[in-house]
Amino acid sequence: MLRIALPNKGRLAEDARDLFNDAGLEVRGKGERALTASLGGEFEAIFVRAADIPEFVADGAAQAGITGVDLVNESGRGVEELLDLEFGRCRLVVAVREESRIKGLTDLHGKPRVATVFPRITANFFAAAGIPVEIVPVSGAAEIAPHLGIADIVVDLTSTGSTLKVNGLLEVATVLESSARLITALTTNDPRRTQLDELVDALASVLRARSRRYLMANVPRARLAEVKAILPGISGPTIIDIMDDGEMVAVHAVVSAATIYRTVGQLKQLGGQGILVTRIERLMP
Ligand code: AMP
Repeated sequence: MLRIALPNKGRLAEDARDLFNDAGLEVRGKGERALTASLGGEFEAIFVRAADIPEFVADGAAQAGITGVDLVNESGRGVEELLDLEFGRCRLVVAVREESRIKGLTDLHGKPRVATVFPRITANFFAAAGIPVEIVPVSGAAEIAPHLGIADIVVDLTSTGSTLKVNGLLEVATVLESSARLITALTTNDPRRTQLDELVDALASVLRARSRRYLMANVPRARLAEVKAILPGISGPTIIDIMDDGEMVAVHAVVSAATIYRTVGQLKQLGGQGILVTRIERLMP
C-alpha cells in the first residue's frame, strides 16, 4: 500500500485532509493525535512536519507527500511535483524596516545581514541577483531580527502582509510564490506509479470541481443564442425540452464559480427562471 506523508499540524494540515476527504479517500485515524491513518482503505497516511516531508519522500519513507513548494525548494531534494493543490498560497519576500531608506534590491549596499528560515533559497536568490549578503539562519520569527539588530533585512513568508506590517516591515521584492504541492520521488517506470497516477487524477478532479458550479435554468427558447454565449459549459450547454407549449427550454452547464454572480444576473436579464446552482464533487472532462 502506498504511503502518503501529510502535514501533522500548521497551515497545510486541515486543507490536505479536506482534499483527501473530498476525493472520497476518507482520513480515518485511531484518534486526533494518531501518527498514521487510512486514506479510504487505498493509501496509508503518515502525519509528519511539513518541513520534513520533502526528505521523507526523497528517502522513500513515503511514496508521495503534500507540502509547500517553499519547503521543497529549501530542502534541496530532487523530488517531482505532481500537482499544484492551490491551497497554502503565500509568497517568500524580502522585507526591510519601514524607516530604512531601502525601496528595492538596488538600494542594498555593503553586505547586508539577512535573517531567514530559508537559508538555501535566500542564498541562491541573492547569488542570482549578484548581491553579496550574510545569511543569519533562524528557526522562526525572522521578522523580529531587524529590530534586535541581528539582521538588516529578512526573507520571510507572507500571505496577507499583515504580520510584516505589524512588525514595521516593508516588502521590497518577491523571492518565490508558494502553494501546497503533491510530490513524489518514484521514477516513471516504478510499478507503484499506476496507483499514484490514479491518485493524481482523483485529486485533480476535486480541484477542478472546486472552481466550478453546475447551473440549471429555464430560459426562453427565442433567446437560446444569447444564452449559449454566456454559458459555454464544457462542450456547450445541455439543452432539454420542457413539457410546456415549447416557449421555454431547460439549460444545464458547468460554469466558473468565480463569475457565477454575473452569469446568474445575465440569465435573469434574458428571462431565465428557476435558476439552480449546485456544487460539483468531482469533474473529469
Ligand atoms: P506550518 O509552519 O506547519 O504552518 O507550515 C508552514 C507552511 O505553510 C509554509 O512553509 C508554507 O508552505 C505554508 N503557508 C501558507 N501560508 C502561509 C503564511 N501566510 N505564512 C507562513 N506559511 C504559510
